[in-house]
Amino acid sequence: MLNIVLFGPPGAGKGTQSQKLIDTYNLIHLSTGDLLRSEIAAGTELGLRAKTLMDQGLLVPDEVVIGMIDSKLKENKQAGGFIFDGFPRTVPQAISLDTLLQENNTAISCMIALEVNEEELTKRLLLRGQTSGRPDDQDEVLVRKRVQEYNTKTAPVADFYAQQGKFHGVNGIGEIEDIFNETCRIIDGYLGQAK
Ligand code: AMP
Repeated sequence: MLNIVLFGPPGAGKGTQSQKLIDTYNLIHLSTGDLLRSEIAAGTELGLRAKTLMDQGLLVPDEVVIGMIDSKLKENKQAGGFIFDGFPRTVPQAISLDTLLQENNTAISCMIALEVNEEELTKRLLLRGQTSGRPDDQDEVLVRKRVQEYNTKTAPVADFYAQQGKFHGVNGIGEIEDIFNETCRIIDGYLGQAK
């Protein structure tokens, strides 16, 4: 199986690259942000609770997103692999993901970290907010809060995968196609050894 963590701050291009990668490698895309927005749209209790935090640019509790990923893994037992987008966002989430994958006799193959500086991220997110309809993309204070959450809680996840020898940084500024090609080059290096 090929299991990729697509990592990076909000606005780094994870969603865009995920769409291209799922077509190329026939993977299932698991974005916790998308899953949470579906819960909000469906008006579930989980969605309502998550919305309060998301509207402040804060992370939702680990057990909520871990539970969602657990059910998606169970729903897709026959999949050839997954792209995890926006998950794991904390070290406890990364530890739980390792356990969940182990229970399915598989593991994370590699982490690709899209690297983009804060000024560029803020610019991109506010631009996306003009068309995405996402309230968390429309307010500069919220955008900066999300980047701050990333810096304090999520950035350490990169070290977690670096310690496992699975971390790969990719410059996330430039042409979408060039970033994609660089990402594919890294993934192709793992394909020969994929379980
Ligand atoms: P995203 O679409 O990945 O930018 O996520 C939007 C918002 O959903 C984030 O700002 C968080 O509030 C929440 N969220 C998404 N994924 C996670 C996660 N793995 N852990 C905690 N909160 C998350």
